[in-house]
Amino acid sequence: MSSVHAENAYRNAQRQFDIAADILNLDHGYRKLLRVPHREFTVNFPVKMDDGRVEMFTGYRIQHNLTRGPAKGGIRYHPDTDIDEVRALAMLMSWKCAVVNIPYGGAKGAVVVDPAKLSLGEVERLTRRYATEISFMIGPDKDIPAPDIGTNAQIMAWIMDTYSMHIGHTSPAVVTGKPINIGGSHGRREATARGLVYVLREACEQANISIAGAKVVIQGYGNVGGTSAMLLEDMGAKIVGVADRGGGVYNPKGIDLRVLQAHYEKTGTVAGSPGGDEISNAELLELPCDILIPAAIENQITIRNADRIKARIIIEAANGPTTPDADTILFDRGVLVIPDILANAGGVTVSYFEWVQGLQEFFWTEREVNAQLERIMVNAFETVHQMAQSRRTTLRTAAYLLAVDRTADAYRVRGIYP
Ligand code: NAD
Repeated sequence: MSSVHAENAYRNAQRQFDIAADILNLDHGYRKLLRVPHREFTVNFPVKMDDGRVEMFTGYRIQHNLTRGPAKGGIRYHPDTDIDEVRALAMLMSWKCAVVNIPYGGAKGAVVVDPAKLSLGEVERLTRRYATEISFMIGPDKDIPAPDIGTNAQIMAWIMDTYSMHIGHTSPAVVTGKPINIGGSHGRREATARGLVYVLREACEQANISIAGAKVVIQGYGNVGGTSAMLLEDMGAKIVGVADRGGGVYNPKGIDLRVLQAHYEKTGTVAGSPGGDEISNAELLELPCDILIPAAIENQITIRNADRIKARIIIEAANGPTTPDADTILFDRGVLVIPDILANAGGVTVSYFEWVQGLQEFFWTEREVNAQLERIMVNAFETVHQMAQSRRTTLRTAAYLLAVDRTADAYRVRGIYP
C-alpha cells in the first residue's frame, strides 16, 4: 500500500463523512469538528539494533474523537504507513464504535517499519520505546490500543508491561488483544470473523440468500479471512476462491480447506495449493460467486473493476476495501455492500469485552463472549438496515448516518467546552 493509497484512504473517509453530514444536515460547526482528528502525535525515536547501530523510526498515535468515551484503536507496524492512513483509520474507529454503540471514541497508531525484517529483540525494544513515547496519551480511561496489521498479542503484552512499569502497578486494561494468561479475552482471536459471520447471516436472510450452498470468495487468508472461511464452511458454504499476498487458488466445486490450511502452514501462502487453479488477486475479485469477502487491504474494489464484480453480496472484512466511486457503481448494479464499520466491528466489540473484564477483574467464558457478541452485532445490523430502508440509502451511508449522529449527539448533550 503506497502513501498515495493512504492519502486516498483519508480523503475517502472524509468524503464518506461528508455524504452523511449532508443527509443529516449537520450543523456547520459539528461538521468541521468531526471531519478532522482531535489529536495527532508524531514521534521520531531511536532503537538500538542487535549489531549496536542506532536506527531512527517514526511512529504515530492519532485520536479522532473522545466524546463518547476513551479512544480505541489498533497499532499497525507497516513500512508504507503514513499519517494520512492513520488519520483515516482513526476516523473509521470512531464510526465503528458508534455503529455498534460501545462507549469509545476512535484512535489509531502506527510505526513505519517492516517487523519481518527485525529480530524479536529489536521488535521488543522498538515496541517498548514507542509505548513509552505514547504513554502520556494512553491509559484504561484515556486511549486503549490493540493489535492491527504487523502487531500481535505478544506486542500488546510488551506495551502493557511497559505502561505498567511506568505507573508502578499492573494495568491490564491499557491494551486489548493480550494473551489470555495476562488478561486477554476468550474469543478475541476469532471475534472479527465471528462478528462478520453474524452480520452476513442477517443480511443473507434479508436478501433471501442461503449461506448453505452459497459460493464464497475471500481475499486475504490471515486472521479474519482464514477464520471466516472456516466458520462459513461449517455453515455449509462453499469456499470457491481464496488469495493472499502471494496469489490465489480457485475451484468452482469448492476448495478443501484442510488441504489449503496444510499447504498454507507449510509454505506461508495459499498460492500453489493443490485442488484448484492458480489465480491472480485481480482475477479473484471478479470470480462468479454469491459472497465476496475482501479481508486484506484498502482500495481493492475501485472504478477499475467494480462493473465486473459478480458477487451478490460484498462484506468488507478489511478496512476501506471499496472506494466511494466503486460503491456507486455497485449500488447501481444491485450488489449489496456491507460496510467495514459494521461488518468488521466484532473485533473491537470483543476488545471492549476484554477491557470490561480487565477493569472488573472478572472473566467470562467463550460462550458468554460469543453470545454478547452476537447480540451486539445482530442489533447493529438491524439498526443499520432499518436506517437504510427508511432513508433509502446504502448500508454504508446508513451506518455513517447512525455513527455520525450518535457522535454529534454526544457533543450536543455535553456541550462545547468551555
Ligand atoms: P492478517 O495480517 O492476519 O492477514 C492479512 C491477509 O491479507 C494475509 O493473508 C495477507 O497475505 C493478505 N494480503 C496482504 N496484502 C495483500 C494484497 N496486496 N493482496 C492480497 N492479499 C493481501 O490481517 P487480519 O488481521 O486478517 O486483517 C485483515 C484486514 O481486516 C485488515 O484490513 C484489517 O485492518 C482488517 N481488520 C482486522 C481486524 C482483526 O481483528 N484482526 C479487525 C477489524 C478489521
